[in-house]
Amino acid sequence: MLLQGIKPDGFTISSLVSSCAKLALLHHGQVVHGKSITIGVDNNLQVTSALVNMYCKCGVIEDAWVLFSMTPTRNVICWNSMIWGFAQNGQDIEALALYEKMLQENLKPDSVTFLSVLSACRHAGLVEKGQGYFRRISELHSMTPTLDHYACMIGLLGCSGNLDKAVDLIKDMPHDPDSLIWSTLLSVSAKKSNIKHGEMAARHLFELEPLNAGPYIMLSNMYASLGRWEDVKSLRSLMKAKNVKKFVAYSWIEIDNYIFKFVAEDRTHPETEMIYKELNRLIKKLQEAGFTPDTNLVLHDVVVEEKFESICYHSEKLALAFGLIKKPDGTIPIRIMKNIRVCSDCHEFMKFVSSVVGRTIVLRDSKRFHHFIGGKCSCNDYCFSVLVLEVHGRRGISDENKSHR
Ligand code: ZN
Ligand code: ZN
Repeated sequence: MLLQGIKPDGFTISSLVSSCAKLALLHHGQVVHGKSITIGVDNNLQVTSALVNMYCKCGVIEDAWVLFSMTPTRNVICWNSMIWGFAQNGQDIEALALYEKMLQENLKPDSVTFLSVLSACRHAGLVEKGQGYFRRISELHSMTPTLDHYACMIGLLGCSGNLDKAVDLIKDMPHDPDSLIWSTLLSVSAKKSNIKHGEMAARHLFELEPLNAGPYIMLSNMYASLGRWEDVKSLRSLMKAKNVKKFVAYSWIEIDNYIFKFVAEDRTHPETEMIYKELNRLIKKLQEAGFTPDTNLVLHDVVVEEKFESICYHSEKLALAFGLIKKPDGTIPIRIMKNIRVCSDCHEFMKFVSSVVGRTIVLRDSKRFHHFIGGKCSCNDYCFSVLVLEVHGRRGISDENKSHR
């Protein structure tokens, strides 16, 4: 478009920024931000909202905040982007405070605003507050809560140990529960080791999404943790009979404008040898500092060394090792993206790296951001599912479907 001499407008720029946000391409997003200033559309509200959203989705919440604060007139989309950004980046209290400020400025919240607010309550474990906001949706704003709002509430109630209340809420919903509702219930049931609700949720998911491997794997892991090996076996057979294929779990990292993608136990990268050398060095260093790989997460009858391998070479760990090699400057945070939820072992690993190596790591998984600084994570480990939705590695349930690039 530029080569043909056509001048981009606000719509072009905001579309470009949104693409960068989706892919979490911070550098490209910053370049487009620069371009918006040179062509004079940086004050366009659509562009500003897109930029705030982009910085939030890249985990650079400070820049999003500066931009948001500098914008004189802000619409609901802009406020929503910032509230969502705080909620997703572990700044739940700031998200709720900003929502209250939005009301003071006489702006009418919409369903997206409430999704961010409920999501902040869920992350922070604020049950009563969450219930209050949930009631406000219909009582004060005359809106019907959406399935997404209900899913947030089920997550909030379930994580805080109120699984029965979460199930009651599903029964009282004015909508037919969809896969998001059941997968949220399955996830919190797994976290709370509640096999009764877990089985119910999984059964609904088997019907709604017959080819999704996630519920099979999660339920199988729940059975395995209880030593119910016969049930594990029959689930495996069911998966095989229905030809359920595992989806590919991968992580990616941007180095000097290039995207590098890794799958678990990936050995296809040209610098594989160096990456594994760095990762093994890191594991050794972390073990000396007290880190123990959680091989319990590999709930299969494999020997200890193989359990160790399949948990230690998850895609995000390989991406991290590669990032540490390529970005030795300790002041630059390592940014990693992952297409599914990070497992608890990788989460613990990143926390250790942030304190032992002293490096800030920002990991965006399918659920939220994790900012690892000085041995702590911004998510406060709240409601961290100990079970992996995706079984990585060659010894997973559907071994034959091992991830490919
Ligand atoms: Zn992992
Ligand atoms: Zn975290």
